[in-house]
Order: sequence, then C-alpha cells, then structure tokens
Amino acid sequence: MELKDFSYEGLSSGHLACAGCGAALAMRLALKALGDKVRVVIPASCWSVIAGRHPDASLKVPMMHSTFEVAPSIATGMKAALRRLGTDHITVMVWAGDGATYDIGFGSLSAAAERNEDIIYVCYDNEAYMNTGVQRSSSTPQSAWTTTTPTGKLERKKDIITSMFAHRIPYIATVTLAYPEDFMHKFQKAQKIKGFRFILVLAPCPTGWRFEESRTVEISRLAVETGVFPLLEIENGIWKITVRPKMIEIGSYLKSQGRFQHADPEEWKRAVKDQWDFIEKFAGGQHGCDSAL
Ligand code: SF4
Repeated sequence: MELKDFSYEGLSSGHLACAGCGAALAMRLALKALGDKVRVVIPASCWSVIAGRHPDASLKVPMMHSTFEVAPSIATGMKAALRRLGTDHITVMVWAGDGATYDIGFGSLSAAAERNEDIIYVCYDNEAYMNTGVQRSSSTPQSAWTTTTPTGKLERKKDIITSMFAHRIPYIATVTLAYPEDFMHKFQKAQKIKGFRFILVLAPCPTGWRFEESRTVEISRLAVETGVFPLLEIENGIWKITVRPKMIEIGSYLKSQGRFQHADPEEWKRAVKDQWDFIEKFAGGQHGCDSAL
C-alpha cells in the first residue's frame, strides 16, 4: 500500500455538523488523501449545511452547491472547463448523500457514469434523508426506524455497488471511517485513474441512527466486522475484498443503534449471508487483505 504525507487539513474546525458526524470525518479523510488540487460539487444534503457559506466556509478547497439532481452534470462541465484552461490535473469530486445518489439524482449519476466522465463521485451514505429530518431513502436498511418508517422499513437497502458495476466504470470502492488507511489508499488510487470513479462511504450518523456521538468510529467498525458493510474495490470489472471481516454476531451492530429496535436478527443474518454469497461469486477468491480483522 502506497502511503503519502496525510498532513493536509482541507476541513476547518468549527464546521456546522452535529457532534460525532461520520460525514464530516469522512470529508476530512478524503481531502487528506486527495490534497488541495480538488474542486467539490455538493448537492442538497447535510453537507450543504456543514460546508457553511463564504467567507466562513469550512472547506479550504473551492466548492459549488447544487440541487439534488444535477451534481454529476455540473461536475462534468467543471472538468471540461478545467481541461480547456489547461488545468486538467485538478480533480473534480461530487460529494453527495444517499438521497442524491440512490434516489433523486440517480438519473444524472447514471448518465455521467455511462459517458465515463473524468470525475470522482462520492456518496457519503448515512442511510436516510438526515438533513430534512430523518426520512427513509432507498439506502435505508430493512427494519430501520426513520420518521417515515416508524415501525421499521419493510424493504432491503438498494444495492448501489452492483448498480454502478453494471455501468462498467473503471473504479468502484467502499470505505468507512474505522479503516482510515484503507479509506485514504482508495481515494489516492481513484485520483490516479481516468474516467468515472465511484466511492461509497458508510458514514454513521448519531442523530438519525440514534447512538452516542462518541461511538461513530466504533459503529463504523462493527458494520464491517459483522459483514453488514463489505470493504471492497472493483477495478476494471475485477472485484477484490480488501478487508476480510470476522463475521461477529450481528446483534452487536443492531443493539448499538436505537433505530433497530424493530429488527429481527435472523432476518439480518439471512440478508448478510445473501450479500456475501453474491460478493464471493464475483470476487472469485481475490482477497487483497491489507488488514485481517
Ligand atoms: S444529521 Fe447526521 S449526517 Fe447530518 S450533520 Fe448531523 S450527524 Fe452529520
């Protein structure tokens, strides 16, 4: 694993996120990996608030806010302009929540991926519309409480990774906060690749998931160790599991969050098994385990 100096701090203290916000920590790690030659497009989401406004913005790199639907289109135009100006070395990154990615902006995301635009699309996935009061999205997991699913969501979470895989883009990865080296390594790798790159960040949200704000990283780790959130990458169609989970008891993840009070552990065990059966078929035994859990 190539590591470089991660001293760059692109996120200022005093930003507007809740205490313990996984999405804020995720941005900090992403910019440590990418450096300051980055332009960020942020569709409607918690990050529309976290970023603040000029001249008090929390990001030290240039950013543009957008509506839910058009961030990939704006990023496409931004990259074309940079190319025209002879500054093609600057990375353009969309930083979107799951509402913009899985639901409202999926059309423009799909179109930009199909055109293989030279941008990095990041979904910081907090598994609901947190900014507007914790409504369910198609990323919300089965049985999770939200204000629009008060007795638990009935449907399983949409599989966005397989959806993006179907677009035949050059690079797809999943990352989360408890594995910062894996996280930053994948962002660095994505930055060096040309074409459309998609990175899914599991970003625990103490407000919407109902846990104490000091437990964000611990819950991020539990998501991986229980097999709920696989850490993998897909490079030119080749699947690779980057961290092999211990598959500890699913109850430890469900009990860690108030949103799962209606969850059935047996149903979750089946869902996790289905997910891993599917991944193992694609991964074909390729495990680049940089860290064995
Ligand atoms: S609601 Fe959740 S995602 Fe939004 S700022 Fe607060 S902790 Fe972060």
